[in-house]
Amino acid sequence: MKNFIVPIFIPNVGCPTRCVFCEQPKITSRSPGIPGAEEVFGIIQQAIRSKKYRRSRYREVAFYGGTFTRLPQARMVELLRAVKPFIQKGYFHSIRVSTRPDSLEPERLEIMKSYSVNTVELGAQSLDNRVLEASNRGHSAEDTIEGVAKLREMGFSVGIQLMPGLPEETSESFWHTVERTILLAPDFVRLYPTVVIRGTRLEQMYRAGQYVALGLEDAMELCARAVERFEEEGIPVIRIGLMSSPKLLEKGQVVAGPWHPCFGHLVRSHLFIKKIAQKICGQFEGKQVQVNVNPRDMGMLRGYKTGGLEDLEKAAGVKILSVVPDASVPCSDIRVHSK
Ligand code: SF4
Repeated sequence: MKNFIVPIFIPNVGCPTRCVFCEQPKITSRSPGIPGAEEVFGIIQQAIRSKKYRRSRYREVAFYGGTFTRLPQARMVELLRAVKPFIQKGYFHSIRVSTRPDSLEPERLEIMKSYSVNTVELGAQSLDNRVLEASNRGHSAEDTIEGVAKLREMGFSVGIQLMPGLPEETSESFWHTVERTILLAPDFVRLYPTVVIRGTRLEQMYRAGQYVALGLEDAMELCARAVERFEEEGIPVIRIGLMSSPKLLEKGQVVAGPWHPCFGHLVRSHLFIKKIAQKICGQFEGKQVQVNVNPRDMGMLRGYKTGGLEDLEKAAGVKILSVVPDASVPCSDIRVHSK
């Protein structure tokens, strides 16, 4: 069962540089600034009342959207203190934060440990220094490698965020990043393909012809292959694609790039089709078939613009006459009957 995470945003707060692609107030639909303790309290109470809050799930409060470990120390502690009573009373198990690989002062990490921060998500984005420089990240791949080691030593669970499609990235450098990330053995990965958001330096680069964004299908293919690679190494990919915040959904806010509100679903669907096509390949070639699928997988089978069925027909050499929802079929599988 997925963790229940209550996200609390601190858009772009604490960041020593502005990365060329980043516009957290639009990504998170929150104005820049640090919420006060009362606001944190209110967000958590509301989350506890929501239907998704269940005692059976692992429950966390998360601080996202900025550089948590570079907040003024007193504000950082204020946020952590605001969560503490909810952990003490058993409403939540722990806290997670996102931050930069070059911002891991041991003193800050000690404070975080003492307030039940268990997981640190590092915005690595790439492990290619040319890409990091072109993105104005202000840190190196070596910082990420050292950062992961430091966090591990202190007993944190470590997640790594990567952004395929950054400026100066080539296919080779992306796969190099994927393989170097696997060697770091993070507890999980998030993949956020780069999109060009209005008002960013990346928008200027794009309009000046200095940056070419990935297309939607290329990004889907790239992410699907990366997910396969990570998961075959036992590294879960817990998020694929930016969340669809109301601000980002406003017309004109995404200028270019592989933006889709259900990007992760499209990637998972692509992988699902590929897996079942391999399974039935050669068994029904040239035949007309009925496909039974678990009702929960119907969307995965239909895929992007219902192209999933066509892809399956092509890959397995069959003609699909009908798709039947069938709860007796295990999830992630299908049953095929020739007609
Ligand atoms: S990507 Fe992270 S470090 Fe860069 S500006 Fe955005 S929040 Fe700050």
